[in-house]
Amino acid sequence: MVRKIIERHEWESDTANRTWIIAKWDDGGFSCSCPAWIYQKGGVRKDCKHINAFILSQNQREQYITATIQSVGNKVIKELKEKCDTMGGIEIQWEK
Ligand SMILES: [Zn+2]
Repeated sequence: MVRKIIERHEWESDTANRTWIIAKWDDGGFSCSCPAWIYQKGGVRKDCKHINAFILSQNQREQYITATIQSVGNKVIKELKEKCDTMGGIEIQWEK
């Protein structure tokens, strides 16, 4: 099976004035263009600090989006409920 890159992300280095390219592969693995990732020894390549930071930022982004959707959803539901409560017993007049 040939591995394919499905996503590419630029990641600014906070130590060197450089931008690394983090690639996400279709098997779920990551690679990075930094020397620490490219020149590491051993059979199985470990994620470098950029990949770890990238994964963390992605998770946080997703958590943030989920939390925002939930809070906005709850707010809308709460407002609707309050409206319905104040309209209790009153016939609703629909705007023409
Ligand atoms: Zn890296």
